[in-house]
Order: sequence, then C-alpha cells, then structure tokens
Amino acid sequence: MPPLPNVLLFLVDCLRNDYCIGLERRVSTPTIDHLISNGCTVDQLIAVNSLTLPCVASIFSGQYPIQHNIRGHTAKDSVTQLQRSIVTEMKNLGYNTYAETAGPLSRDTNLLNGFDTIHWREVQHGDKFFDDFGDDLVHRLRSGDFKEPWFLFLHIWSLHVPIEKPPKNYANKGLTDYEIAIEAIDKRLKELLGIISKDDLVIFTSDHGERVFRSKLSQRSAKLRIAIWKRARTIPLIRNWLIFIRNVFISKRGGGLEFGHGYDVFDYLIHVPLCFYSPKLVQPQKLCIQGSQVDIAPTLMEILGFKWVSNTGFVGKNLFKTQNRPVFCEATTNRSPDHNKWLLAVRDPPFKLRLEPNNELKEPILFRLDKDPEEKRNVSTSYPDEFNALKDLCKSFLSLRNPVDDSDIDSHEEKEIRKRLEALGYF
Ligand SMILES: [Zn+2]
Repeated sequence: MPPLPNVLLFLVDCLRNDYCIGLERRVSTPTIDHLISNGCTVDQLIAVNSLTLPCVASIFSGQYPIQHNIRGHTAKDSVTQLQRSIVTEMKNLGYNTYAETAGPLSRDTNLLNGFDTIHWREVQHGDKFFDDFGDDLVHRLRSGDFKEPWFLFLHIWSLHVPIEKPPKNYANKGLTDYEIAIEAIDKRLKELLGIISKDDLVIFTSDHGERVFRSKLSQRSAKLRIAIWKRARTIPLIRNWLIFIRNVFISKRGGGLEFGHGYDVFDYLIHVPLCFYSPKLVQPQKLCIQGSQVDIAPTLMEILGFKWVSNTGFVGKNLFKTQNRPVFCEATTNRSPDHNKWLLAVRDPPFKLRLEPNNELKEPILFRLDKDPEEKRNVSTSYPDEFNALKDLCKSFLSLRNPVDDSDIDSHEEKEIRKRLEALGYF
C-alpha cells in the first residue's frame, strides 16, 4: 500500500465563495486561482449553519447539526461529543493529528477530540496569520515539526471581526478590509504550499460566509456609525432613539447588522468555497453540483482510498459520485435565544424553502434563486408543487431531531453566549 499523503485542511473562517471564486470579485488571489484550476472544486458547497462550531462539527462528522446536536456557541455545544469524527478515523489510519485553531474552537471543546496536538490562538484583537503566528507556522512546517503522515487542521481567523490588518508594505488598492485580508491570506498560502509536497492533499474551504461592506465608502461610513453607537448606547434616551431609527429605517435583511453571520440562511452566509488539491491524487475538474459540508468527510476518505459508510438517509456522500440533491442549512442561537425564531432552509436549485421549524403558525417562504438571487420574493403560490414537496422534505429531515435540543435558551445561558461572542469581537 502506498504511503499515506499528508493532509492539510485549510479552513478560512468567514470566507464567502463569491469573494475568492468567480468573475465579480475584485481581489487578486493567484494562489487560490492555482488551487482551483489544478484541483477539484464544487460549484455550490452549502454550509449547514453560519456559525463556526456547527459547521466544523458537520465537516468532521458528515452529519447535520440536528443529528450531532452542536447547534451554536452554547456551553452545551462545547461539551457535546461527536459520535463519529474524521479526526479519530484518520488517527486510526495512522495519521498524526494537529489542530491550529482560534476563537470558539478552543482546547476545551470536545469537537477537537482526536487531535494529538492542539494549538489554540487568542484572537480577541485579531489573528496573527500575517505576522507572528504565520511566521511560526511556516517555520514549524519547514523544520519538520509535524510528524508524517500528518493531518493538519488549520483554522484561520483573519477575516473574522476584528479583521486582521495586512503587513505594513501592503499596497492599498481601494479595497475593503475584508478584501485586503483575502489577498494577504493568499500570499501566506503560497508560502505554505511551497513547503508541502506535491504528493500531499490540500482541502481549501471555509466554515460559512459573511455579511460584508461592498465598498470602502460604505465601510468608512459604517465605522463612523458604529463609533457613534458605541458612545451613544451608554445614554439610555439616545440609545432608545437609535434603536427605534434602526428598526424602522434600516433594512431587516441582516437584522440591522453592519456585518457578521449566524443570524440567517441567505446564500451570502452559506455559500462557501471547496477545493480538493493534490496533483497526484485528484484530477483537475469542476463538479457542477450542489453539495453540503456533510459531504467533505466521505469525499476525503474516498480520495485516500477508504470508505465512509453511513446507514441513515440524510448524511454526507462522496461528492465525486453523487448527483445534485437538496441540502439543509439552519440559523439558530445567533439568530435568537427563542427557539421559535430559529430558521431552517432546504436548498434545491433553483428553489430554496425557508421556514421556522419550531413555529407552525409561520408559513414557509419559497425563493427562486436563479431569478431572485437576493431572496426577496416569495413565489410559493406560483410553484405549489415544488413548495409542497420541499415542505414534506423538511418534515422528514426534522424527524431526525432531538426535541430537547430545540428548547429555548435560558437567561443564564443567554448571558454566557453573549460573553463568549463579546470575547470573539461580535459586539
Ligand atoms: Zn466561523
């Protein structure tokens, strides 16, 4: 049997698909372009949530959040153990397993069980991928600190708020902070790829998307508004007026947020890049299909020559051998502590059904993504057959859930979530 290739799972937190792949992006990313034209990409890879922990849990386990029960960033989500994980499977195959993580993927989350070595970074003031941490990682890779065959899960926090600033000699080309950071990630990725062997396998992906500023001007004006808000919120009367103005005049798409994720199931929050790159093991191709993060573990195993067998219906499949099929995504604890306001979407292009699974009084909404990419018009009455079929599909999907895990979050837990999110720079 040939030796096992080293595997780098390179996950850029908050990286949207349309900002690194496609014609509309403004960024220049030659390294990512190289991976895409020489690797296997999936046209529409859909995240299971737009929060880190549920998405990473699904990448590792090949299961949806209602199956593995990691739904958000609560204390329970940190202690829940995955019944099955790609990490332990790879360890059993003989891999040395390394995790370089940040933010909610801390040492104390059971999600990282199976890693031999975990390095967690404090990122309250931003990641250091472009300086200290990145330099150290390059040095460790170069000097053989990672014992072969290695499986390295590299979780990059540079695009998450507060967005990491690029190196000082970076030429500003009128891009937003988010775009500049993508270009800087691309440069660092080039260094990493220069070290690892051509026989190794790189998986380039993201956990979820992000609501971002479209231009430098909107970024500047938002920064000003945020600065005013931070000062004004300490004065109750002004605070109440600002909340009133925000609720009445600012679009509800994004819940009044200027940036962020976790609050909804819009495509810009859930469409993420996925590329498998290995000149030796993977043929360059574009799979023109829709897949889910639950498919990553079975596909990885197949590339390595092993099977990932599962016995239930709604689980991950090998993307090389699967056809288009509906996939699911939810918005949970970051949307609301009230579980009645949680969202579930089933995406079956060109349609997407969006519903509140714990609130039967609220009628689901059907979008036609090819004609309405911004998801503004409900077309349920124009397509009653598709509407009913997707509603039935959601019903079967929801039969997998554990009702206890859909319960409301109590005020103590809400405070704890807020504290965790604050530490991660959300407020
Ligand atoms: Zn994330």
